[in-house]
Amino acid sequence: MTILSKDAPAEISHPAHPEHKLKLTAAGAAEFQCDVCKELGAGDRYTCRPCDFDLHSDCALAEATLAHPLLKGRELQLRYGDDGGRTCGACGGKVLGLHYHCAAKKGMDLHPCCAALPLAIPQEELTLELRKEASHRCSSCRERGRGRTWFYRSTCKTVYLHVACVREIARRSRAAGDGSSTDPFASVKDAALQIYRAKRDESELERVILELVLGG
Ligand SMILES: [Zn+2]
Ligand SMILES: [Zn+2]
Ligand SMILES: [Zn+2]
Ligand SMILES: [Zn+2]
Repeated sequence: MTILSKDAPAEISHPAHPEHKLKLTAAGAAEFQCDVCKELGAGDRYTCRPCDFDLHSDCALAEATLAHPLLKGRELQLRYGDDGGRTCGACGGKVLGLHYHCAAKKGMDLHPCCAALPLAIPQEELTLELRKEASHRCSSCRERGRGRTWFYRSTCKTVYLHVACVREIARRSRAAGDGSSTDPFASVKDAALQIYRAKRDESELERVILELVLGG
């Protein structure tokens, strides 16, 4: 059974679809496109079935202003629509609908679902922490900064993953249909763990070879 978010109301009225009430739906792993932010998603959402209208719960329940822990001293305002060519500061993807905008000097935009990403994704062997930038290549796409988008970094500093790559890993796993877990980051945790173990084994191998070479 899918467990719905505890604090989310079962039914809401939303200005983006004033005709009908929207019902909280446990969508499981099935993918949908959110009608206000235009991003893909899975998991809990608000829907109007007859109209085929879907909203991320993050978008439906988004506060009018956002103070993000990674953006100290800034306040972002929730806005509809795009004024063309804006990208999300966290994932680097295009902003096509509802988003948070910071009007300060160095402007900043965030998809509501990127703004709602957890600061930490913990698991048994390693914890991924959300960071603004990283000095390392991404363990998934092997690229560096990608225009200074946000990263997840393991606390042991072994695994680095762009937010975009984290979202892509989750999306691919949904597309492959192995979405039996209610944890939207299950596939990301698996991927991080595989990278971590491979790197650990690699450095273990290097150590052994060095010892052999140096006759240690
Ligand atoms: Zn959305
Ligand atoms: Zn409707
Ligand atoms: Zn984003
Ligand atoms: Zn990447």
